[in-house]
Amino acid sequence: MLYKHMKRDSVERSGPIFKRAEDFHGHLGPFLVIGIRMGLIGLDRLGRKKGDPLGVTASLPLRTPFSCVIDGLQMATRCTIGNQKLSLKNSSRIKVEFEQNEKRQRILVALNQSVFEELKSRLLSHKKLKDEEVRELAWKVAAIPEEKLFAVT
Ligand SMILES: [Zn+2]
Repeated sequence: MLYKHMKRDSVERSGPIFKRAEDFHGHLGPFLVIGIRMGLIGLDRLGRKKGDPLGVTASLPLRTPFSCVIDGLQMATRCTIGNQKLSLKNSSRIKVEFEQNEKRQRILVALNQSVFEELKSRLLSHKKLKDEEVRELAWKVAAIPEEKLFAVT
């Protein structure tokens, strides 16, 4: 499921936001990447540019590594805890609702449950992954086609 044939270079070239998010967040991991991708999908589907008025509600397990999603969302959308355009709900699954208030449009982006389970078992296994392995996993997640990673409704 996590593709081995992806072209890492092309993903890195197309994703300066990954670099900025890594600087901000302190490391690059799969859930940071998931947050960035969810945020970009939200902006794209609602036809918004980064910084435009938008409300984001993220449901996720509020502990690391899952909470890394939050920083990815903030980087991608500029909806943050600080500006109160991002609210959080504790949940066993990861899904994010994007709402464009004045046009009453909303979309929901949910992480594919089998990808979630696979990442959970890799990251929370007793054999702790090295930083480089976590990074590698992040790039794999960056390369998974959107329709295999998320359900957008
Ligand atoms: Zn993290």
